[in-house]
Amino acid sequence: MRITDADKPLFTNVWIIAETVGGAIQPVTYELIGAARGLADARGSRVAAIVVGGEADASLFAYGADIAIVVNGPEFVGFNDELECASLNHLIGKYKPEIVLCAATARGRALIPRAAVRTVSGLTADCTGLAIDPETGDLLQTRPAFGGNIMATIRASNHRPQMATVRPNVMKALPPDPTRKGETIREQPPDAGVTNAKRVIETVRGGESGVNLADAKVIVSGGRAMRGPEGFAMLKRLADKLGGAVGASRAAVDAGWIAYPHQVGQTGQTVQTALYIACGISGQIQHLVGMQSCGCIVAIDRNPDTPMMKLADIAVTGDLFEVVPALAEALG
Ligand SMILES: Cc1cc2nc3c(=O)[nH]c(=O)nc-3n(C[C@H](O)[C@H](O)[C@H](O)COP(=O)(O)OP(=O)(O)OC[C@H]3O[C@@H](n4cnc5c(N)ncnc54)[C@H](O)[C@@H]3O)c2cc1C
Repeated sequence: MRITDADKPLFTNVWIIAETVGGAIQPVTYELIGAARGLADARGSRVAAIVVGGEADASLFAYGADIAIVVNGPEFVGFNDELECASLNHLIGKYKPEIVLCAATARGRALIPRAAVRTVSGLTADCTGLAIDPETGDLLQTRPAFGGNIMATIRASNHRPQMATVRPNVMKALPPDPTRKGETIREQPPDAGVTNAKRVIETVRGGESGVNLADAKVIVSGGRAMRGPEGFAMLKRLADKLGGAVGASRAAVDAGWIAYPHQVGQTGQTVQTALYIACGISGQIQHLVGMQSCGCIVAIDRNPDTPMMKLADIAVTGDLFEVVPALAEALG
């Protein structure tokens, strides 16, 4: 809602919307808590994990939450986003959080814009950086803008709560501390009749090609240089030897050589693998924002001066059609 400076102290604490699938708390929840912890410490406030349509467990506290607020019941089966949104708005009205963070997953993207509209708060999607302005206490929400060519920092100085989404694998979870304890509060869904206009018929994981880049530990990624689907078959052989998945630049996806779920970058997946091997990917900013947090980046390109080659921990200058098969062979 629109507020004045005098109203600001009414809004306290940093909330994260926990994501559960089949009763299991998803890793992105811990990444959100990690981000929220830093913000709450800067504000001298607390981190609350909001679990709507699921159950809290001790892991939320181990990863840094102080409070868990749970709203659950049989009516939440499947993804009842109307009821989840009504419940979330009810909680926001009651507790007045200063900041609300949600995962930019399919579920989060269906839920949080509705909540932002109903609280008249605005929402900054797909943030890659979050910080507190020490002067004003405002949330500084950084995200790529204008096709990824600039990083914009957005603030909502006249509205509370300040709401943002973050993609999986962008923020880092803190190391869990199993001795940390927290408080769990149970709330009821709002009484007002909320009808669910949708029915979940089937849940399919991993998209049409069955790839799940978010959970991969190793990605071997190819770009325009791959020349066609056969090039990606070569990358798959290397990825299989490393127990990894195949990724792609948008140029390769747009060319129809590999399906969209493999795309890494601003309009694809954000990944944070231990090892990312970029083969013939020049490293335009729209690709880099999706993989620059990977642990070890290997680039193979015949041009040593590309942004990817500069970013890489190991840069191999050469023809990938020679280097990749040699690498696969060396792995046995
Ligand atoms: C709004 C917007 C969103 C976008 N979103 C994304 C996104 O999510 N993901 C994404 O990837 N892009 C995205 N893009 C596109 C992006 O700007 C680039 O066009 C794209 O990433 C380039 O793909 P590439 O690196 O494969 O191709 P290129 O830039 O053409 O690079 C090909 C590289 O291969 C090297 N090469 C060629 N042949 C060989 C060989 N035989 N051996 C070794 N090296 C070789 C070349 O030297 C070159 O460095 C987006 C663009 C816009 C405007």
